[in-house]
Amino acid sequence: MLAKIKSVALKGLEAFDVLVEVDVSNGLPTFNIVGLPDEAVQESKERVRSAIKNSGYEYPMKRITVNLAPAELRKEGSTFDLPIALGILLAIEVIKDKEKADSFYFAGELSLDGAIRRISGALPMAIGLAHQRNNFIVPYENIFEVAIVKNIEPYPVKHLKEAVEFLNGDRTIEPVHKSIEDDLLEDIAFEEDFSDIKGQFQAKRALEIGSAGGHNVVMVGSPGSGKTLLARRVPTILPPLVEKEALEVTQIYSISGLLMEEGFVKRRPFRSPHHTASEAAIIGGGSSPKPGEISLAHNGVLFFDELPEFRRDVLGALRQPMEDGFVSIARVKERTTYPSRFMFIAAMNPCPCGWYGDPVHPCRCSVSEIKRYRARISGPLWDRFDIQVEVPRLLADELIQKTSSEPSKNIRERVINARKIQAERYKNKNIFSNSQLSPRAIKEFIPLREEERSFLSNVSEKLSLTGRGYDRVLKVARTIADLDESENVRLPHIAEAVQYRIDNTI
Ligand SMILES: [Zn+2]
Repeated sequence: MLAKIKSVALKGLEAFDVLVEVDVSNGLPTFNIVGLPDEAVQESKERVRSAIKNSGYEYPMKRITVNLAPAELRKEGSTFDLPIALGILLAIEVIKDKEKADSFYFAGELSLDGAIRRISGALPMAIGLAHQRNNFIVPYENIFEVAIVKNIEPYPVKHLKEAVEFLNGDRTIEPVHKSIEDDLLEDIAFEEDFSDIKGQFQAKRALEIGSAGGHNVVMVGSPGSGKTLLARRVPTILPPLVEKEALEVTQIYSISGLLMEEGFVKRRPFRSPHHTASEAAIIGGGSSPKPGEISLAHNGVLFFDELPEFRRDVLGALRQPMEDGFVSIARVKERTTYPSRFMFIAAMNPCPCGWYGDPVHPCRCSVSEIKRYRARISGPLWDRFDIQVEVPRLLADELIQKTSSEPSKNIRERVINARKIQAERYKNKNIFSNSQLSPRAIKEFIPLREEERSFLSNVSEKLSLTGRGYDRVLKVARTIADLDESENVRLPHIAEAVQYRIDNTI
């Protein structure tokens, strides 16, 4: 008997239909699976066989051949356990309703006792199936991530036996739907707050502008100046995720197996990988490429503490995805793409010992040591930080100042307002923030009068700004004007923006 069961495979975040064909015929008992990578086949066979037996069904002592089509599509093994087991049970007529079985897609890993286990990537699979209001049977543990997808009927199952009884009409299972709009509007409570940090007004202002316009920010300062504390508080001033963004982020966490109980990502991610991390860990990689830190930070913040300590290949590989908003990972036969639009925040010391420029603590580094240290950040990478700010160490009397600092909540309100202005200005343009303006879009959206133009050309000569640097000043000025609710970019906005360019060479 030949049976067919529908399932799904992923390439990156893209879903593809897979047909699981099962043939059970007379002959010496064998079990062959075609269309899976070798290493996955053996394990899958063991799980399927034990799960069928331990669910109380008779395992056929016959010749079993399973084909997962199309063969050329790369497939991860464990999600096909459930469709394979159901295919066998359909072929030997333990499952009787062929038509009903054909009206569902299935994905799930089996444990030896027949329980159905959580899989990675259930959300992108569901999104891929969502265009036709398909029925999708998923592991119970995955139901909350799948339930948020519109135009699909997701059914949760806990055990192979449940799935069989459901298909035979001996059990009812209701599809589960969940709307996340209200959850996203809920106020998120953070443990940290900008008001925890005294002083450092320029750095705070820089991070506010960065958050408002999606600009990359680099902070240069001695140890103990609070750079790391400042960076970690950026999520507290970012606007809440909108539904589309939350779905994008959740898909990446789904495929990485990092989703928590509640089933979707509510907060903007904040990722801070260690400087020893490999290129594959940061950019993405592996034999079937998994998202790296730059994708896990999508729609959120990627923070590199001690920027010059990161590996040269990692820093080099960052540039393209930073520019494109996605990363493309090439493997022998295929290319996998993941989104990677993040706000990049970096912190670094001004020199190897950390004290260059400090008013009290002497620096022990030679000029050539400092030059070598700073040269680890290439010009083009340095240029990609729209906002460059020095964060001086606070002296004791500044630290004990009684003046209270502004809470994150107030800053976030201004950031949200500035983002709204940008969303309105760029609607239908596929531009989400000022940081994404192309040179052409800068001309269109940041018209200058002669006054501003001549000021800026004077300044850029003095600061020897590159063309790219010039554009970056304008983009930051646009954000400062938005925070100011000013329709046009005026002199004071440009004057402030040029303050956020510092020379990384000495
Ligand atoms: Zn030094």
